[in-house]
Amino acid sequence: MSENFYDVLGVSRDASEEEIKKAYRKKAAEHHPDVSDDDDAEERFKKIQKAKEVLTDEEKRRQYDQLGHDRFTEADKRGATGGGGPGGAGGPFGGAGGAGGFEDIFNQFFGGGGGRGGRDNRPRQGRDLRTGLTIDLEEAFEGATKEVTLTRPTTCDTCDGAGHPPDADVQTCPQCNGRGQVQQVQQTPLGRVQQTSTCPRCEGEGELYSEDCPDCGGDGVVREEATLSVEIPAGIRSGQSLRMEREGAPGENGGPNGDLLIEVDVDVGDRYERDGDDLRVKEAVSFPQAVFGDTIEVETVDGTVEMDVPAGTQSGETFRLQGKGMPRLRRRGRGDLYVQVGVVIPDSLNEKQREALEAFAEAGGEDIDVGGGFFERLKGSF
Ligand code: ZN
Repeated sequence: MSENFYDVLGVSRDASEEEIKKAYRKKAAEHHPDVSDDDDAEERFKKIQKAKEVLTDEEKRRQYDQLGHDRFTEADKRGATGGGGPGGAGGPFGGAGGAGGFEDIFNQFFGGGGGRGGRDNRPRQGRDLRTGLTIDLEEAFEGATKEVTLTRPTTCDTCDGAGHPPDADVQTCPQCNGRGQVQQVQQTPLGRVQQTSTCPRCEGEGELYSEDCPDCGGDGVVREEATLSVEIPAGIRSGQSLRMEREGAPGENGGPNGDLLIEVDVDVGDRYERDGDDLRVKEAVSFPQAVFGDTIEVETVDGTVEMDVPAGTQSGETFRLQGKGMPRLRRRGRGDLYVQVGVVIPDSLNEKQREALEAFAEAGGEDIDVGGGFFERLKGSF
């Protein structure tokens, strides 16, 4: 747990918010439990999320830099409600309280439940979830309808999210007397502090039930495998995300669901290289074609086109086929196709070709020792 948040995201201590967000997107896509095969992917992913949450919040980042990793996470743990439970969304130094004054300062440090007044039944939007989807170049070119399958939390049907059967006996929580919060005195780096936190017994509900729901064990939430149909717009690039509204984690206390973000990876394949909306491709021409010029056929993402290779073309020269690249995302028009021409040197010649080439060299005044490995040297020089 001592790995610091900057290392988790692989950024320097003076990284800008933009750099941090960028690093986060990359890491999150790599280590998402739905896409990664690593056993500890979930743990890793949580760390990455935590690191981003803290480092992209100016206030939290300042505290983090000031306190150092260990003291920060310790304070954070004390403030949180056992992770993932109600209030987990607030995270370290959360606390929506507006009371001000002395107690508030310490709530800023040891955050979480302290800032709230009593039981928290406010509707809250669910978390956004993320997943990845790989498509091929053709699908990115045409646009496509794809299915994504993911495991996600969803409201338990059996108890309708309540966490207990409707006929369960209800009892006021004896630990917090129904307030949902408890007071604790803690020894902190700043002295003895009385801290208010969410009651660990009832998890802030203020009530205890004689039975938990058998399907969700009291969480009100279960995991389901969901298959969703997602529309991929033509022209999408690797790393871009599609947002499916309200397909994320369920909200709390009647709040709306979060969103699902689908990060798209476009597998370009072997033939093309993609550079934004432009594509690059290599085409071979023969030595005579390069010398005399010719019209060659070039396969593009949407059919074959003819391209003129002018006389005297050098190996490695690039030609542009305007508007033959990828469609521009949600705009009109297309990028270009860049065709790099490579002149192929034959690695074997028949008798006639050999004579012609010797004559060619002689006509140009070249003095080549043909017997002594002309072809070897020809090959070696390219
Ligand atoms: Zn249930």
